[in-house]
Amino acid sequence: MSEQATTDPYRHYVNGEWTDGHGSETFDSENPATGEPLATFHRGTEADVDAALEAAEDAFEEWRELSHIDRAEYLWDIYHELRERHDELGEIITKECGKEISEGKADVAEAWHMVEWAAGNARHPHGDVVPSEIGSKDAYMRRKPRGVIGCITPWNFPVAIPFWHMAIALVEGNTVVWKPAEQTPWCGQIIAEMFEDAGIPDGVFNMVQGFGDAGAAISEDERVDTVLFTGSAEVGHEIASKVGGEPGKLAACEMGGKNGIVITENADLDIAVHSAVMSSFKTTGQRCVSSERLIVHTDVYDEFKDRYVEIAEKVAVDDPLEEDTFMGPAIEPEHVEKIQKHNDLARQEGAEVLVDRFELDDDEIPDGHEDGNWVGPFVYEIEYDSDLRCLKEECFGPHVALLEYDGDIERALEIHNDTPYGLAGAIISEDYRQINYFRDHAELGLAYANLPCIGAEVHLPFGGVKKSGNGYPSAREAIEAVTERTAWTLNNSKDIE
Ligand code: NAD
Repeated sequence: MSEQATTDPYRHYVNGEWTDGHGSETFDSENPATGEPLATFHRGTEADVDAALEAAEDAFEEWRELSHIDRAEYLWDIYHELRERHDELGEIITKECGKEISEGKADVAEAWHMVEWAAGNARHPHGDVVPSEIGSKDAYMRRKPRGVIGCITPWNFPVAIPFWHMAIALVEGNTVVWKPAEQTPWCGQIIAEMFEDAGIPDGVFNMVQGFGDAGAAISEDERVDTVLFTGSAEVGHEIASKVGGEPGKLAACEMGGKNGIVITENADLDIAVHSAVMSSFKTTGQRCVSSERLIVHTDVYDEFKDRYVEIAEKVAVDDPLEEDTFMGPAIEPEHVEKIQKHNDLARQEGAEVLVDRFELDDDEIPDGHEDGNWVGPFVYEIEYDSDLRCLKEECFGPHVALLEYDGDIERALEIHNDTPYGLAGAIISEDYRQINYFRDHAELGLAYANLPCIGAEVHLPFGGVKKSGNGYPSAREAIEAVTERTAWTLNNSKDIE
């Protein structure tokens, strides 16, 4: 892994140094496809977070004085490294978080797209010049860095999401304390090495490995000016409610979804089946944009169901390091249990189970991978009822409800919008009026037409509404969370009126 981290376990990166930290506990990163340990890491404590925050505070005054373009230079080095190490890093991601190698490599590409966007942004206009009410005055909106940004990230995009948060925060002149997910510390180690290799000044970038207690120590500390969080609704709401009460502190939290695809009576069923399969099973359903509800018009319901179920019966899990693998394992044994609980809940609430491959047969598990966290598709149909928890709670696995609707697009949207979440969703339709109605009425941050709910372009805002998000800790809109705005008025005359 690292030339600098010569001891095992791997260390935190604080104030430009690799450190064992103050705690005595360590934890292992494991390969979800085999159960094998990959490496051991020091577990961060409150004292480690304290040291990292102190370093970030100290480094802020000098860092903010550099120009945007000078700060971006460090990011350009990382951009080139991400590109050069594309295949190698994709493989590491796949080994540590289990997603298919094509998805591991896509994660790296998304990271460099984000770094390219953030570093390129250094040469873009910042703020606004507005006309003044008085001719002799100039009026501007100027942006300033906020200070120390605490970044807390999930395991499922272990390289891309940290750069969603950190790249723009750093270019805008903030310093950073980051905690990678406990399931993907190896990816964290590599990113920290990249910042070190780029020669970023001491204290500007700091990484503390660890669990939720270290995350809470970051988000709750008064020295943190903005928290950028991506992860579960449970944790994000806890952070937002605690931090939201503190004047002057921001928490931009991106969370989960209970995403749906509406398939109307005139849908192209090839597109519908492809979109549903990709959205529900890719990355084993463990994407924030994965679809767990398919809302299908009665006129095409039976044909769609037959075609979708036929594929769900056959979708194969395999070694995620193989190029043509469609579906890898779940992240960890606890998550397999959680998926099972969601499947059980659907059954208890009256689901008609169409496919139950939660427990795969031995011959479906790839050779040599018997200790991996394998699960297969669970597909059910159920009559829509607003009281059903199985239609409202995110499973984050290959767990899919088919819901038949009869009526117009308004009825489809009633069902679609009946979840506490509002992250991603799609419509499959050949009728532009239905598509436009969906665009205007779906309670979503990310909406797709005639496409799977999959992927994101970094120069678009990425985030959800309702319970899925309270701000945009990523992409273009994150600038709002990492800068302060000053209304600046300059008098060009001697007249002080
Ligand atoms: P998680 O909420 O369990 O953990 C996310 C991070 O928060 C981890 O680093 C964890 O250690 C930390 N954490 C845990 N408890 C904390 C606390 N009390 N205070 C501060 N930090 C704490 O989420 P996960 O299992 O890593 O990721 C899966 C979830 O993330 C899913 O719900 C998925 O939908 C969501 N997600 C959302 C997006 C998006 O852009 N909307 C993207 C990816 C994943």
